[in-house]
Amino acid sequence: IRSLIPVFADQLSPDLSCLRAGDPDQDHILMMEVRAEGDQVWHHRKKLVYLFSAMRHHARILRHMGWRVDYIALDDPRNSGNFTQEIGRAVNRLGPERILLTEPGEWRVKTMAQSWRDDFNIPVDMLEDDRFLCSHEEFQDWARDRKQLRMEYFYRDMRRKTGLLMKGSQPLGDRWNFDPENRKTPKEEMCFTPPAAFPPDSITREVIDLVTRHFPDRIGKIRPFRMAVERAQAEEAARQFIQTALPRFGDYQDAMLGGQPFMAHSLLSAYINTGLLEPLKLCRMAEQAYHDGHAPLNAVEGFIRQILGWREYVRGIYWLKMPEYAGLNALDAQRDLPGFYWTGDTGMSCMRTVINETMNSAYAHHIQRLMITGNFALLAGINPYQLHEWYLAVYADAFEWVEMPNTIGMSQFADDGLLGSKPYAASGNYINRMSDYCRGCLYDVKDRDGPMACPFNSLYWHFMDRHRDRLAANPRLSNVYRNWDRLEPDKQSACLSRAETVLGQLNTGGL
Ligand code: FAD
Ligand code: SF4
Repeated sequence: IRSLIPVFADQLSPDLSCLRAGDPDQDHILMMEVRAEGDQVWHHRKKLVYLFSAMRHHARILRHMGWRVDYIALDDPRNSGNFTQEIGRAVNRLGPERILLTEPGEWRVKTMAQSWRDDFNIPVDMLEDDRFLCSHEEFQDWARDRKQLRMEYFYRDMRRKTGLLMKGSQPLGDRWNFDPENRKTPKEEMCFTPPAAFPPDSITREVIDLVTRHFPDRIGKIRPFRMAVERAQAEEAARQFIQTALPRFGDYQDAMLGGQPFMAHSLLSAYINTGLLEPLKLCRMAEQAYHDGHAPLNAVEGFIRQILGWREYVRGIYWLKMPEYAGLNALDAQRDLPGFYWTGDTGMSCMRTVINETMNSAYAHHIQRLMITGNFALLAGINPYQLHEWYLAVYADAFEWVEMPNTIGMSQFADDGLLGSKPYAASGNYINRMSDYCRGCLYDVKDRDGPMACPFNSLYWHFMDRHRDRLAANPRLSNVYRNWDRLEPDKQSACLSRAETVLGQLNTGGL
């Protein structure tokens, strides 16, 4: 054969660049379920089922398209369990003239693929992944000579480049960003239409059995399994989201309610990240909903900004800064990740709710990730790399290029403000305003230093106090320090002492 074409779990697009460059008559596709990748990170079992099932469905589609596909199943006795050895076996078996692939999404896997040239003495042609809307070169050009790499300016350039929500050179509605309108507090009686659900077919049921057998000790509930596993289903999920949830996406983007894990969010990230949905097409669908009068501009702009802005921007940061980015720890946070992140076994209602929902569905929406689990880790000084490993494991949409900048940068400020202009730190007051979690909590959200005071309150001030040297000069935090300095010294020390007690309880299961 001419080319061996490896296709990875996040490359499930029929028009992937390497497939466009290949020829079904002369080339051979290789897809691999390898144990080493499943062990590299302690993935949620629902995520494993999703990935393996979506891969198996994709292999079927590729075969329909006329490709020859070697599919190495996890339980194939010849499966060596790692990418490089499987490539080696395929090279021996098929004798290709070259390896042809689309750039892997993860720095580690890309480095591994680059080594195949020497490992197997064969040319390796690696093509750009043009499913993204901003290439590495474009992002480097944008970042060059800028003092600050703010997402907002990148996003405006992407709007100009794609013409999305533009009227000539001006943004529709004469504003680039409608975020201030997207912070409505939730009302308890609000009901949201559940996201699209798809019953498992025979392929998915087989994969559920496989994952149950091979990963018995892993976290996360497999059933009920309702995710889309092929393109047609993912497109149906996108249509349903635009129809039912998009109109309210903006208003309640930052809101959280117990018993409503999905609110008006799309739950499309896993499908976009694996290639079942195309980001630009999705943005155009949302834009059309605005032009049809179906969804307001604040909702549509908010949704498009997440995909065209944040998603492309964090990818740009990842490739610009790896591999050093993974080890950043600007705030020198050294505490171990508490065990309750894996079990949800804590009296803090907000943490328990989000962690339990995560273990059930391999999903949490953005504000739950940023302002509950991320915020707690930031305030408590949890090691950012350990937290990164947790996020990468527990969410079905988690791939390193998108998860890592969100965790290390946006949520933990471990990149010293490269990604965000100030840390996303908040006390219980914010959580109480944006959710109904505090009502069912063991702790008192109005109390700062008593024995049952909300842990977020004292930890918030402890965080601000211990990082004063670094943060006090930040103009966006001057009010915070003014308020702290106004507090009488005995109240300050009672608050800091309560925080020390909370930190002491972290790993004893006492929280
Ligand atoms: P919606 O709220 O419906 O948003 C629409 C789409 O916008 C998403 O599907 C996603 O593709 C994109 N998007 C939204 N916010 C972001 C963002 N900050 N960065 C990149 N894309 C974004 N997203 C991932 O896809 N994978 C991850 O592993 C991941 N890890 C995260 C870790 C932390 C600590 C934080 C704070 C955020 C993380 N995010 C991650 C970003 C965001 O939380 C998820 O994309 C979003 O919650 C997915 O749910 P949804 O599809 O319902 O999103
Ligand atoms: Fe979370 Fe504090 Fe509210 Fe409890 S009181 S739910 S710990 S914010």
